[in-house]
Amino acid sequence: MHKKIPESPSILIRITIHTIFILFWFGNSFAQNSDHPEVKARRGDGIYNLLERNGLPAGEYLNKFIELNKSKLGPNNTLYEGRSYLLPVATLFAEEPLFGKEHEKVRIQDRKLEGAIFYLVSGHGGPDPGAMGKIGKHRLTEDEYAYDVTLRLGRALIQHGAKVYFIIRDPKDGIRDEYYLENRSDEYCYPHQKIPLDQNQRLRQRAAAVNELYKRDPSSKYKRCIIIHVDARNRHRNIDLFFYHFEKSKSGEQLAEAMRHSMKVNYKENQPNRGYNGTVSSRRLYMLTRTNPTAVYIEMGNINHTRDQQRLIYPDNRQALADWLTEGIVKDYQSRQ
Ligand SMILES: [Zn+2]
Repeated sequence: MHKKIPESPSILIRITIHTIFILFWFGNSFAQNSDHPEVKARRGDGIYNLLERNGLPAGEYLNKFIELNKSKLGPNNTLYEGRSYLLPVATLFAEEPLFGKEHEKVRIQDRKLEGAIFYLVSGHGGPDPGAMGKIGKHRLTEDEYAYDVTLRLGRALIQHGAKVYFIIRDPKDGIRDEYYLENRSDEYCYPHQKIPLDQNQRLRQRAAAVNELYKRDPSSKYKRCIIIHVDARNRHRNIDLFFYHFEKSKSGEQLAEAMRHSMKVNYKENQPNRGYNGTVSSRRLYMLTRTNPTAVYIEMGNINHTRDQQRLIYPDNRQALADWLTEGIVKDYQSRQ
């Protein structure tokens, strides 16, 4: 029997081209995977400092760092201020489909929150839109804005290597870059529960979801539940973003204080004349008293006040809130190590 010979040389050529293409493709993705994040050295930085700031224990990464940056180091392996250096970790990605097609790939930037676990609960959802405000013909609903900030907060935490559980979930929305977020009622509660309309049932359901997840990951010493809402008050009354904790929870108070501090510092830096009067206080709210992890409840502003509405409708502002809260969370985590 004859072995079958390719009918025409063109097939061979095609196979070769195909192989080259595959090699090229693999080569490319390999280069991407071995890509190292770049960071700039600040004044006074040494390698230790730079590594630690990026969540990399110097003891473990010092030699790799030197090897990777050989040509850019000064005498005795000093760093030059303002020069970019490569971090000795491969670029890692996490995937979270809840963020939507465009945002589902999340680059892990450092490990500052490695080992930390978060249960993020955005207020209301499903059949309950929560508080409602208005801008012109646009209706603002609390649940949609709380959800978007919650997703952004979760993404920022993941970028620091944290593990994040989103308790309220929307299969379609993802992180949205629009001003006016369409109100829908397709949110559900982790893992696949329909959200009831009755308030007590609704809260019981999400607290139970948090407590069930809390039993997992027994080795983690830092588990935090963060609940995000938007308040509704008289339209003349603006309120800064503020915090509640359970009165008996020292750790809750500390986390809230850390976030408040970060808000204050960031407002001062970005809007020097604005001032920030967000408060931290205790309150007996179901989600604070009935959840097992340390919990903090955030109110982002008054959905009826023009200035507070700006905080919500601009996607950049929602992102800034998430980033600033994250900074506070990182500080709190680091202070407890
Ligand atoms: Zn609410």
